Amino acid sequence: MSSKILEELKHFINGKFEDSENKDRFSFLNPSNNEVIGNIPVGCKEDVDKAVIAANRSFKNLWSKMPISKRSDLIYDISRLIMKYSHELSYIEAINTGIPITQVRAQIERAAENFKFFAEIADKVLGEAYVFDDKFINYAIRQPIGVAALITPWNTPLMLETWKIAPCIATGNTCILKPAEWTPLSANKLALIIHEAGIPEGVLNIVHGIGEVSGAELVAHPGVKLVSFTGETVTGMEIMRNGASTLKRYSMELGGKNPAIVFSDADLKRALDAVVFMAYSLNGERCTSNSRVLIEEKIYDDFIEMIHERIKRIKIGDPLDETTELGPLVRPEHWDRVKKYINIGIEEGAKLVYGGERPERFKSGNYLMPTLFKDCSKEMKIAREEIFGPVLIAMKFRSENEAIDISNDTIYGLTAYIWTKDIERANRIAKELECGMIWINSHSVRDLRTPFGGAKYSGIGREGGRFSFDFYTEWKTIQVALGTHKIPTFGLNR
Ligand code: NAD
Repeated sequence: MSSKILEELKHFINGKFEDSENKDRFSFLNPSNNEVIGNIPVGCKEDVDKAVIAANRSFKNLWSKMPISKRSDLIYDISRLIMKYSHELSYIEAINTGIPITQVRAQIERAAENFKFFAEIADKVLGEAYVFDDKFINYAIRQPIGVAALITPWNTPLMLETWKIAPCIATGNTCILKPAEWTPLSANKLALIIHEAGIPEGVLNIVHGIGEVSGAELVAHPGVKLVSFTGETVTGMEIMRNGASTLKRYSMELGGKNPAIVFSDADLKRALDAVVFMAYSLNGERCTSNSRVLIEEKIYDDFIEMIHERIKRIKIGDPLDETTELGPLVRPEHWDRVKKYINIGIEEGAKLVYGGERPERFKSGNYLMPTLFKDCSKEMKIAREEIFGPVLIAMKFRSENEAIDISNDTIYGLTAYIWTKDIERANRIAKELECGMIWINSHSVRDLRTPFGGAKYSGIGREGGRFSFDFYTEWKTIQVALGTHKIPTFGLNR
């Protein structure tokens, strides 16, 4: 596939695309061939200042004061427009990320759904009232907080950007999005869509650039009150340090090393479908991926063989090809990182069942075969660290307790998947697993009303449904005397 686009992107500040004060630019690539398909400005302090001023002005003068129903109507329109432009969005997202187009389409639908969902619930998660001794009516309302920095990763750019923008603006905040520098292309199209929907200028601003430069300026800015971050755990730590002196409120969605636990009594056909899909879809660059599969001893060899048979047939190819199941990884640097882990796995003594190499047919681009390791132990680096590529680590367990022990023996705690027909056992295990989200006999099917987020080093806080509103709003309690309750008197005794 040759690259047909060459985009010189700009920041989006106060409703207009603007050049940076900084002349530095950063190139982004087409992962199928690593040709440059565009570049972004590297946002600097001056750009961040301008964006914060615009966002703050819009927050104070207009957006936070607009009736919720009117805000929701506008946000609902973004959802409609995303579907109207879904063809173009899918194309640019696939060409910049390398994710197969059929999977990108599902992400674009989710992007539209994010706006629809938060537009619909915005007026339903408001406040609470308490009558106190019949003498007071005390009520608590949620209010927007101000300017939010939304910092997103490269793996599913548009979906994650909308996952943050939608609840942020539905609650009356304004924002500055810092898209990942490797995959910035769809963000500017989203800006146009949001503009077309009639969202006032300054509500969404985009500052492009490199994390350590542009993202760091944003995080340290005193005018930014909230930081919603999705990305690597170490980056999250750095962001928390940088925002400490301006006391930011954080939502952190970080890395994962998620187990799928497969018992011998499971519906193995369905478990196989799900395990393979959750390990290799989105090119394995998926935070909720079941990157570890824990298999009960008596079906261990058979289930590994079933996975092996299946992944030999995974269709690797151009992300724009409708039949492709596994596309190229996002960047050559990331391909090297994943390959390094594969080499480490071999050195550590894990058995490589399949893959581990560039597929022969693809001389250029960041293609990697679906990879399966077996006979891994929980001490191995490949079983403990997030690889974030199409690499599945298989391990054996003998008992329920051992499965729990292996699952929990990691710094991460994002998701887990349990496969068994014994529903009591599944619920017992679910209680013991140290993670934020668990699916029993299912791959990760999202219910947008439920809290999304991780435990341990996988995150802080939850987003999704009303939990997003907990993050994006501040409670204010207003206490009203209903009559003439007794007030203590001082200074009347002399
Ligand atoms: P990353 O941490 O390298 O970058 C994420 C974003 O942070 C980018 O926009 C980057 O420019 C910015 N950034 C980097 N340094 C910064 C700094 N010092 N200050 C401010 N911003 C900075 O992550 P990535 O490689 O883009 O994404 C992959 C990671 O994201 C994986 O660990 C994956 O598990 C995680 N992820 C988690 C979830 C979740 O919901 N928990 C979802 C998707 C991805």
